[in-house]
Amino acid sequence: MTPYLPDLDIPKLYAGFDAPVTEVDCGQQCAVHNPSGLPFCCDICLAVPVAYRQEWAYLQQQGGFWHLWRGDECDNEPCDPEELRAETPDHLCLLACQGVQHCQRNLRATSCRQFPFFPYVTSDYRFIGLAYDWDFETRCWVISHLEQVTSAYRRQFTAFYDALFALWQEDFDSYADLSEDMREHFIAQKRRIPLLHRNGGYYWISPRSERLTRANPAAFRRFGPYDTPRRGQHVPNPCAR
Ligand code: SF4
Ligand code: SF4
Repeated sequence: MTPYLPDLDIPKLYAGFDAPVTEVDCGQQCAVHNPSGLPFCCDICLAVPVAYRQEWAYLQQQGGFWHLWRGDECDNEPCDPEELRAETPDHLCLLACQGVQHCQRNLRATSCRQFPFFPYVTSDYRFIGLAYDWDFETRCWVISHLEQVTSAYRRQFTAFYDALFALWQEDFDSYADLSEDMREHFIAQKRRIPLLHRNGGYYWISPRSERLTRANPAAFRRFGPYDTPRRGQHVPNPCAR
């Protein structure tokens, strides 16, 4: 079925959504933990960028920085390319860029700008803030440092999706579905969901009741190689018996 595709002013949307996620270059923080030496979200073997079809129409006119993902860009493709294509909603295209050494910030796709976040939608259909892609918990440095996400980025993220959702119900619905998947995942794990609320605060969401509780962002969990002792924390002595 041909998807509904509203007219989008891509240059305007991009111009309003270009703030760095954190003040430090997060790519330098995570790349050291990736055997390929690349930031995880720019490693085509681990994450395939996506763009709205309207974006792809625009990006094709900006030179050859992007091409449609072929499925042979990685020596060890992590999944069956046909399977990934079949799973991708019709309004999105899978892309590959020329690589992080040639990254053109002004031509980053929406999926690069939003990473590692997505708009969190409650079961009663309210977009209340930013939640993260839980598949990257042990890889993405930002997920372990949510307190460092800048206010400017949060404001731009919210404004971007408010503008998009006002035009595009189907896109809103896809994030409502993703938010539901997140609630199910966190219920299974008996965990609460950290949320960067659109009001500027930090909250825990109970995935079952959806009750919000104010959170201290410095207390959010850290994962994988980022789960290091914090200032003032007890450091376990590995020699102690
Ligand atoms: S968003 Fe996460 S995965 Fe991407 S470069 Fe920053 S820390 Fe690395
Ligand atoms: S465009 Fe830049 S940020 Fe996006 S995947 Fe390519 S290198 Fe990474």
